[in-house]
Amino acid sequence: MADQTTPTAADAKASGRSVLVTGGNRGIGLAIARAFAANGDRVAVTSRSGEGPEGVLAVRADVTDAASVDAAFREVEEAHGPVEVLVANAGITNDQLLLRMSEEDFTSVVDTNLTGAFRVVQRATKGMMRLKRGRIVLVSSVVGLLGSPGQVNYAASKSGLVGMARSITRELGARGVTANVVAPGYIDTEMTQSLGEDLKAQYKKSIPAGRFAQPEEVADVVRWLASDEAAYISGAVIPVDGGLGMGH
Ligand code: NDP
Repeated sequence: MADQTTPTAADAKASGRSVLVTGGNRGIGLAIARAFAANGDRVAVTSRSGEGPEGVLAVRADVTDAASVDAAFREVEEAHGPVEVLVANAGITNDQLLLRMSEEDFTSVVDTNLTGAFRVVQRATKGMMRLKRGRIVLVSSVVGLLGSPGQVNYAASKSGLVGMARSITRELGARGVTANVVAPGYIDTEMTQSLGEDLKAQYKKSIPAGRFAQPEEVADVVRWLASDEAAYISGAVIPVDGGLGMGH
């Protein structure tokens, strides 16, 4: 039995929106989860490992597995109600030059980054259509439109998210659902920490802002896209890249 200080599912359902962030245990996803939690929303994160931030519901899910995604949504719906804001953030890289890239190198990245987003979006929109409202934010990358040597798999997966968001907008725009893409440039997370210092210095020279960004700078844009202020924005690609991808 819950004591008087333990919030119950009923208490949780009384305030904020039900927000789900995939890959919210670290990096950009963690910052996004924190931003929504600070906003007073009821936030859940999925992860395959680790935990989410304090005060956030963490559920296990592998976005390459539809049954695992469904189980995670059930858990979130039970605790927080139907998901009103979905942030498809989980993603991986597996860089290799085209001629050396195996089909498995290609399909595994697409399966996580693009098909993984499809799995969570499809599951979330069932509830959003019943609610007649919903916000979907897909975390893409500047690389999706700019291209990058060694990232044929990653760039293909990330540009696919643009077509996905725009098609969702056309299908569900009249039902109160928006779908947008955020395209970060270089962000200081585990994904970029493995880059050598020489390479980082070279990248910084090509970024007009002259620096990598912090995950919170992406999180603030995602939170805004899901706010009432952004109700008329859908099918948009919002760069958060210090000017790196200008013109795309
Ligand atoms: P991290 O590597 O720090 O985090 C990746 C997250 O994705 C982790 O939470 C990880 O969970 C999760 N994840 C990976 N595979 C799966 C899977 N199969 N099922 C469920 N969760 C999974 O990356 P970032 O925070 O840097 O990146 C977050 C997103 O932002 C990614 O989509 C990335 O492509 C994108 N991005 C990042 C940029 C950067 O410079 N960092 C630039 C542009 C875009 P687990 O811990 O369980 O593995």
